[in-house]
Amino acid sequence: MLSQLTALLLSLLTAFSVSLDTLAADLAPDGYLMLVNRDYMLASDYVPEDLVYVQVKHSSSAYQMRADAAKALEALFAAAKEEAGLTLYAHSGFRSYQTQHSVYQRKIKNMKNLAKARLLVADPGASEHQLGLAMDVKGHPDDKLNAAFGKSKAGLWLAENCWRFGFIIRYKEEWTDITTYAYEPWHIRYVGTAHAAVLKEMDIPLEQYVEMLRSLAAENLLNGDTP
Ligand code: ZN
Repeated sequence: MLSQLTALLLSLLTAFSVSLDTLAADLAPDGYLMLVNRDYMLASDYVPEDLVYVQVKHSSSAYQMRADAAKALEALFAAAKEEAGLTLYAHSGFRSYQTQHSVYQRKIKNMKNLAKARLLVADPGASEHQLGLAMDVKGHPDDKLNAAFGKSKAGLWLAENCWRFGFIIRYKEEWTDITTYAYEPWHIRYVGTAHAAVLKEMDIPLEQYVEMLRSLAAENLLNGDTP
């Protein structure tokens, strides 16, 4: 017997024409579902090969992403302008292991409480920014990256619409126990349009989604195969 959640996942994957082959590619290293967190860390020399500067307004000099994610972000920002009159800013995209190391050390030094600091900053190797598939977004160059962004016009629009362009809000408030990171309404992660649409429907963290997909793939449960 399939669980309700698995049955829902199967029907959504079918509806969005995700085949077993594309799933395998997406789950492979360098695929758009590559999971990075404190359990799945990247090597210190991991750098994606197709990094480009995203052609959008930006509020720092660190606005590179992998090519497909960059194109999708450009379309997302254009839609924000066209549909809602919002100007969005790319603030932080690709970050190397070494940069993440400095960011981490600085945060740990500035905050006295290690556990609290680790909710807010990823260890080197555990940051999605090293994948080149994440971007921190601002609604104004002077915005601070904090929870208030989630209630701002830009934050609300982003949460409602980013899936249409292949992005997810990666760290929701209610998922902290699973993701190990605090609520980050500004941090979007590219997973491709099909998975973003499925995730929008299922409303589960990427950790749980990838785990479910791995077992579906292992059991060959996709493409109409019924157990
Ligand atoms: Zn981020």
